[in-house]
Amino acid sequence: MREKDLNGKELAKKIRNQLTSEITKFKEETQITPKLGIVYMGEDLSAAAYIRSKRKRCKKVGMETELFHFSATISLKNLRKELKILNEEESIHGIILELPLPPHIPFIEAVASVDPNKDVDGLHPANLGWLFAGNPFFIPNTPWAVMTLLKEYKIPLRGKEVVIVGRSLSVGKPLIPLMLAENATVTTCHTKTKDLKFHTSNADILVASAGRAKLITGDMIKEGAVVVDVGINVTDDGIVGDVDYEQAYPRASRITPVPGGVGPITVSMIIRNTLVASVIQAEAKGLNSKVVPIGHAHHSGYLK
Ligand code: NAP
Repeated sequence: MREKDLNGKELAKKIRNQLTSEITKFKEETQITPKLGIVYMGEDLSAAAYIRSKRKRCKKVGMETELFHFSATISLKNLRKELKILNEEESIHGIILELPLPPHIPFIEAVASVDPNKDVDGLHPANLGWLFAGNPFFIPNTPWAVMTLLKEYKIPLRGKEVVIVGRSLSVGKPLIPLMLAENATVTTCHTKTKDLKFHTSNADILVASAGRAKLITGDMIKEGAVVVDVGINVTDDGIVGDVDYEQAYPRASRITPVPGGVGPITVSMIIRNTLVASVIQAEAKGLNSKVVPIGHAHHSGYLK
């Protein structure tokens, strides 16, 4: 790590320690072990590796996981039936759909079949709606990781020009309401943006989430900007971000390295949401817990 780095690895460790003690306390109070259900369709090798690492991380903080593996040929109708079973299964508190989904399964239709109380990825239309309404329940994990990292390093956002490169449902779009809630002025760029450099050069805070290796070069960054690189791109030179780190470093005031920036924090956000889901579901059964998971929004959930 270098001087200007926003160290996500260190923050992730700190959050994991907090989560471990919260989960231990919750288990003692309720005799319930929080459990995450991971739904996965197909045989994609990189997805399998992500799943293994997520399960390992969950285990380390005392959370159970169960993998529900279906064929890539499963129909949307049958997937909905399977999700209905998981929605009704009391021992499962959170459900995530591991990407990529088979091409014939539209993500938003699939995720809309997950009970919003168990949608720990925060991508159910109801949860996205609450987020855009300014009263979030489950917040999508990568944007929340970005906000958590900026908060940890006390990066001021009020009145700042925030430029987000990328408008995906899971990263770029949810960042808009989160940044607006912090009183930033938000611009979102995408592949049809006419002059990307014009926008990025104006950014006090630049968030790159395009999935294009080294798309953002040094000359596209304003002197003194805070640069958050969400990109994870596998290249011949190893894993690199969307920002050319070496070029960006001298111009940026703070910058996330890749790997070691946003990435390590994201799994902790899923764990945090699953703990919240467990607390709310336990409360609905009359089992009160004093655990209020760190940094959680004040929405009361759908079960009350
Ligand atoms: P995605 O669904 O492919 O979306 C990419 C977005 O970037 C799209 O909105 C696209 O615009 C835009 N874009 C692509 N090329 C561009 C260009 N040349 N100029 C301007 N905009 C461009 O990807 P995603 O799921 O959001 O993921 C983005 C990156 O973050 C990937 O590298 C992914 O691996 C990484 N990621 C990291 C984490 C983490 O934990 N750190 C988590 C999730 C994702 P259009 O809408 O016009 O196509």
